[in-house]
Amino acid sequence: MIIFWFFIFVIGAVFGSFFNVLIYRIPIKKSIIFPASFCPNCKKPIKWYDNLPIISYLILKGRCRYCKEKISLFYPIVETITGFLFLIVFWKTGINILSLVYIIIFSSLLVNSFIDLKTKNIYISLFIFPSLLYVLYALFIEFNIFSNFWLFPSTYISLKESITGFLTGAIFFFIIRFFGGKILKKEGMGEGDIYVAAFIGLFIGFPYIFFVFIFAGIFGIIFYYTYYKDKDDKVIPFVPFLSLSSFFIFLILDFIKRLYL
Ligand SMILES: [Zn+2]
Repeated sequence: MIIFWFFIFVIGAVFGSFFNVLIYRIPIKKSIIFPASFCPNCKKPIKWYDNLPIISYLILKGRCRYCKEKISLFYPIVETITGFLFLIVFWKTGINILSLVYIIIFSSLLVNSFIDLKTKNIYISLFIFPSLLYVLYALFIEFNIFSNFWLFPSTYISLKESITGFLTGAIFFFIIRFFGGKILKKEGMGEGDIYVAAFIGLFIGFPYIFFVFIFAGIFGIIFYYTYYKDKDDKVIPFVPFLSLSSFFIFLILDFIKRLYL
């Protein structure tokens, strides 16, 4: 059993390696397929044995084999997080189609969180496929299509909760942005947060989405006062906190749902 879970972690880390490519190349509008990975400093192509997730970073002691330029710590961090993401989602929901949908959902949030951290920008196009997939899944369940085929875990929410969650996320963040902007006389929050909140509402649902807002706020405040406080730049990237919070709520969703019954 340990070998199985280790295998899941490794698959996650391999996907994490691909997510690094997305995080690096999407904002600079480069093809995500060609060319193969190369060192951003000396431009030498990276050999497969220097491109193994996490391990290569450790073996190379975080430097390029050729020019010894430092490799960003972001790379092994993203790979490790993705490994744990796969591990935890499968552990939480079991091996079924909905767990794959959740993996795709949280992967899109992870990639956009790191893009937000690096560039203060997000790419909502990354949410389109996971959203369609989730809606399709929810429709199949709701209308009992292939009912014997679908297994769904305790984190599953009804279509009604899903739709109202989507609307709540969008409206709540639209209002915060609108009035926040009026009060602060500047844009306090990016437009991207509205889309992220709506997307999260879709798979967390109403009223559980409010827990996501609360914890995202708490995470954001902690981060601001511990790490970000002394920086000149006062615009905090909020997508990572919304994403992290949505993952946390996803893990305790069955517990929260029981409180509401
Ligand atoms: Zn190099």
